[in-house]
Amino acid sequence: MKIGTKFIHAGVEPDPSTGAIMTPIYQTSTFVQAAPGDNKGYEYARSQNPTRTALENALAAIENGKFGLAFSSGVAATDAVLKLLVPGDEVIAGNDMYGGTYRLFTKIFEKFGIKFHFVDMFELKNIENVINNKTKLIWIETPTNPLLNVADIEAIAKLAKAKNIITCVDNTFASPYLQNPLDLGCDIVLHSATKYLSGHSDVVQGALIINDEKLRDQLYFIQKSSGAVPGPMDCFLVLRGIKTLHVRMQRHCENGKAVAHFLRSHPKVGKVYWCGFEDFPGYAIAAKQMRDFGGMISFTLKDESDANVKRVLTSTKVFALAESLGGVESLINHPATMTHASIPREERIKNGLSDSLIRLSVGIEDVEDLIEDLNQAIG
Ligand SMILES: *Cc1c(COP(=O)(O)O)cnc(C)c1O
Repeated sequence: MKIGTKFIHAGVEPDPSTGAIMTPIYQTSTFVQAAPGDNKGYEYARSQNPTRTALENALAAIENGKFGLAFSSGVAATDAVLKLLVPGDEVIAGNDMYGGTYRLFTKIFEKFGIKFHFVDMFELKNIENVINNKTKLIWIETPTNPLLNVADIEAIAKLAKAKNIITCVDNTFASPYLQNPLDLGCDIVLHSATKYLSGHSDVVQGALIINDEKLRDQLYFIQKSSGAVPGPMDCFLVLRGIKTLHVRMQRHCENGKAVAHFLRSHPKVGKVYWCGFEDFPGYAIAAKQMRDFGGMISFTLKDESDANVKRVLTSTKVFALAESLGGVESLINHPATMTHASIPREERIKNGLSDSLIRLSVGIEDVEDLIEDLNQAIG
């Protein structure tokens, strides 16, 4: 089945009791049993809910996986993966990643005796250098938030598999329309479904997709035991969002490309970070493992003064100044003080995330309006 047909139909059956084509929102906390243990597969809504089941099946299908698990947020899904570990275990992660993931790793899990190595994942040898017999998980975000660094999923997964290390790819920036990490050999795919999957900035949710049944059972046990599950209304919204993912992503990619080239040609713009530029360091890997290059772009201004950066951030009229990404509407964001404020300044600067970096989530409006808006804001 081709990708668009799959996104619309995956995992979803008409409701057996009424024929409703859309999955009903089963707003219930519990399910009546005929006798103890005699139930229809549903007991208590933290463990299972039919709206969530439909979504979890859809999530599995769109990532070419066997099993999906939905969580109350992207960081709750990350939290569940980290709970596979025990004190003393080590994790290797990229040195550029979503600030909330970095915070969860260093402020919550380090406390429980998990050790993290943050390396530039573009070079495989940086990972090889820190692997040891305590390494249990490699955390890959590609392209990264916000610098669009790219890592070779297939090569890292191969290296990890040989040493029995689990790999998890945060596929939020690419979405399953652009990249399917399970096909490239990784073990777990993570999404902040808050972003492209739902696509309308109206829900917070996370997802994991897995092929291995044992790993799925472990993660399901954590999901129901720790309890960070999404409600049925939120599951419905993500399920609905997935049906238009391919159409939205096509436009995000087209608009992203036009905006990236516009920024690059603007005399007052410094560096533009977008993995679709042929001279971008990650381009060859991105072209190999992604179907297109997406609508996430970061850039700096030639005048990097705080006042100028602030002026641009507050001058756009179509781009809204806000955290988050992946919605139909375009957003502008200042990582240093917003999405990545939880990373210590020294760490950020060392890894290339400057105080002047501006991040765009290019939406699906008419691109002429987006370019005109940025042009007047940059001045
Ligand atoms: C937003 C985001 C997350 C966290 O997801 P929430 O739904 O906000 O909890 C994780 N990874 C990436 C790349 C993100 O952009």
